[in-house]
Amino acid sequence: MSNLNTDSGILIGERLCLDFANTVSWHNGDNPNERLLNYEKLVEWSRHAEILSIPQEKQLLEKANRYSDQAEKTLGEAIELREAIFRLFRSIANGLKTDTLDLAILNNYLTKAYSLAEIIPKDGNFALTFQKGENELDCMLWPIVQSAIDLLLSGNLNRVKQCEGEPCGWLFFDSSRNKSRRWCSMADCGNREKARRYYKKKSSQK
Ligand SMILES: [Zn+2]
Repeated sequence: MSNLNTDSGILIGERLCLDFANTVSWHNGDNPNERLLNYEKLVEWSRHAEILSIPQEKQLLEKANRYSDQAEKTLGEAIELREAIFRLFRSIANGLKTDTLDLAILNNYLTKAYSLAEIIPKDGNFALTFQKGENELDCMLWPIVQSAIDLLLSGNLNRVKQCEGEPCGWLFFDSSRNKSRRWCSMADCGNREKARRYYKKKSSQK
């Protein structure tokens, strides 16, 4: 069993939306391991992925205490969004047609995200922000939506891949020069797969 896959801190997707999709381990198997078990875990992950600042994290957790129903609803939305993102990019990674229902879910969140979006000057350039909604319990969802849209429109979809280790299921953006990345992590699924092949070969030689 993988240490990486059970560590909530690992970010291997190279794109925010893919790291978010990877908040379930063993997504391709019969026993997926859900890491967003409650709203606090969602906030913790978002802080780790640098969507939220430390003061924002504190403020959201305080607010979630006061509005627990709303926090619970946000968690449900986060998981709905994540599963749609996961299925969309899994289809893309495997050369399959994307489901219109998944696109409809993403488009629904896109509408909300863009109703909050603002272009602001930043470091001599401009940046897209979602500051208008930054005090809301669901504020972490909008940069994730933006990341999914950016990736879908990037023209680089042939670099979206799914780890070949079964039943890992993790998605990543392959930024290697010759598009040769096959694993979420060489130290994890890569090594396990190599060991599996080695023993298979050995036992067939007997
Ligand atoms: Zn893997």
